[in-house]
Amino acid sequence: MLEEDMEVAIKVVVVGNGAVGKSSMIQRYCKGVFTKDYKKTIGVDFLERQILVNDEDVRLMLWDTAGQEEFDAITKAYYRGAQACVLVFSTTDRDSFEAISSWWEKVEVEVGDIPTVLVQNKIDLLDETWTVIQDLCEEAEGLAKKLKLRFYRTSVKEDLNVNEVFKYLADKYLQRL
Ligand code: GDP
Repeated sequence: MLEEDMEVAIKVVVVGNGAVGKSSMIQRYCKGVFTKDYKKTIGVDFLERQILVNDEDVRLMLWDTAGQEEFDAITKAYYRGAQACVLVFSTTDRDSFEAISSWWEKVEVEVGDIPTVLVQNKIDLLDETWTVIQDLCEEAEGLAKKLKLRFYRTSVKEDLNVNEVFKYLADKYLQRL
């Protein structure tokens, strides 16, 4: 049991290849908006949102890589003190899925074993290309099992499952306290 009035703050890192929707996810969750031309250079390290989980006030600080992943130049400061992680790939980008294991390893090396979820974003783009990416969807489920990670399919655009991802992480984090 936590002390009364004690607020829990969790640093969450959101990692994955460029253009999978990481910044959009952070914007969506913290500001409730989706913009196609969102600029990454917003000049802040993270956005935050406060939620109530099992009667505890939890402040989630969502850190944006700000495009550093494009140059394989994510700084140690980005990972430092991270307490939860979202691994994101895109439904329309197989390379971004292939890169997940190496992102996962990087996080493990930098911060160890922290509550982590695997997220397949842009699920709204499934429809007509379904047969093409069916394999990818199945493989993703397999990978999540192998890495023992909770798996979510999201559409940041349509605000599908985004809240669930962060609620799960906050819950998982609280369980470990
Ligand atoms: P990041 O580089 O991983 O931070 O990716 P961005 O957040 O910049 O998103 C890359 C592009 O994908 C932008 O044009 C977004 O509008 C778009 N995008 C992000 N999430 C979704 C989604 O769920 N569905 C669709 N259709 N597009 C998305």
